[in-house]
Amino acid sequence: MSAALSVDSWKDQARSLSYRNQCFVGNRFVSAASGKTFTCVNPATGAPLTQVSAGDKEDVDRAVKAARAAFEKGVWSRIAGSERKKVLLRFADLMEKHATELALLETLDMGKPIGDSSTIDVPLSIQCIRWYAEAIDKIYDEIAPTPPNAISLIRREPLGVVGAVIPWNFPLLMGSWKIGPALATGNCMVVKPAEQSPLSMLRLAELAAEAGVPEGVFNVIPGYGETAGQALGRHMDVDAITFTGSTEVGKYFLKYAGESNMKQVSLECGGKTPNIIMADAPDLDAAAEAAAWGIFFNQGEVCNAGSRLIVEESVKDAVLEKIQKVAQILQPGDPLDPKTKMGAMVDETQMNRVLGYIEAGAKEGAKLAFGGKRVRAESGGYYIEPTLFDGVKNSMKIAQEEIFGPVLSTITFKDQDEAVKIGNDTIYGLAAAVWTKDINKAFKTSQALRAGVVWVNCFDNGHISSPFGGFKQSGFGRDKSLHAMEKYTQLKATWINIS
Ligand code: NAD
Repeated sequence: MSAALSVDSWKDQARSLSYRNQCFVGNRFVSAASGKTFTCVNPATGAPLTQVSAGDKEDVDRAVKAARAAFEKGVWSRIAGSERKKVLLRFADLMEKHATELALLETLDMGKPIGDSSTIDVPLSIQCIRWYAEAIDKIYDEIAPTPPNAISLIRREPLGVVGAVIPWNFPLLMGSWKIGPALATGNCMVVKPAEQSPLSMLRLAELAAEAGVPEGVFNVIPGYGETAGQALGRHMDVDAITFTGSTEVGKYFLKYAGESNMKQVSLECGGKTPNIIMADAPDLDAAAEAAAWGIFFNQGEVCNAGSRLIVEESVKDAVLEKIQKVAQILQPGDPLDPKTKMGAMVDETQMNRVLGYIEAGAKEGAKLAFGGKRVRAESGGYYIEPTLFDGVKNSMKIAQEEIFGPVLSTITFKDQDEAVKIGNDTIYGLAAAVWTKDINKAFKTSQALRAGVVWVNCFDNGHISSPFGGFKQSGFGRDKSLHAMEKYTQLKATWINIS
């Protein structure tokens, strides 16, 4: 696709872009009932992009009613899987047709490099929608091994109305991980994108309608978390919430469910990934390079970012030297320049939060090896240079709390047991990595690490066919793979008596 465009050409296209900026309900754009809007800001410049409808309780209610009506009519939920597949494949084709526009929206709205949006976020989102579309007419249900005088048919049924609450770091991709399996299995949805980055999701909903997703099946309510997000979480007619975001907000959704209709909740939350490099890593340079990308990719705004480098003492200096070299080529730049590898932080609040952690690290006695400052302030945007702390203790705030920025904490270990102990000493359990050429060590360590994904001699590798999600306070339920369908369906056993 368009990654080969020049910076000028991306900028020209950005100037001629029009934004969808209202709630999308019943396949139509409508203003928020209150008439209120909020400002969407380009984090690369600090300049406003557009005003977006600030959806609230009434708008969520309208969208849920539209979704419920569509679900009850059966225009989506009761048609053959092969019919839904056709529509979803058309949807993916339209995403592909409008890939440049979607990539631009993602970059302008959240500050990530256009090279990433156009070669990672958008293509992976398209792949995800296609994968679930293709899967849905190939999955069989079950017949239980009952005694011969009965047949028990075990079928997966859609849940009904699914509320999806999305974060700002990969708006399209995190959204697609939910939309793909939820729609493929026949549910109707109300999606609440993050207030920092609602634009790509609004356009996506319009494309879904154009592809033939019936009225009311896919609704989007932009708005703030405490208002629109909470209203969705507490709605009495929402059957399930699928959430990606912070652990703190994930816990709110459990509370909302408990205080409303006991809706099903699945949570993809934060992380503090240990990236364990042993002295016998098959290729130390490759390990160090992956460690650098593992924390600085997407400005460090990645749930599974390898934010704790747990490295064997004897090879630490060599590894840090290489990481610094990679960091030099990852200095923040204009997100619309295809050469840029690291863009802007999503907003001023997030930038200041990350700078606050850098200050806290230094105060606690960690050694700032490089980085640590805001850069490109003259652009009006929110950029932070790649930052590395050495001499970190795992008890320090920068090793325990999710920073969600380009800040790497280095902790050393002497033996495998210590590495695992440090790795697991966190409330999170989203991902972990281990680098060693000893197959026994690799297997034992990966077994002992409490995380939903463990990478061996690689970092952040994955595929839509492989599940993703957390242990501990990183959440529960899985995105991606056929397992994701489990959270959008419920089992019905139909017991037929044979007399
Ligand atoms: P966040 O928790 O602040 O917000 C996520 C969503 O929840 C947004 O749509 C927001 O508007 C909404 N929200 C916020 N407060 C709310 C409230 N009181 N009630 C209802 N909804 C509310 O997270 P974020 O800052 O957008 O994203 C960063 C977080 O997401 C990080 O913790 C990161 O680790 C996590 N994340 C996890 C995964 C994963 O797959 N595990 C993937 C991406 C991001």
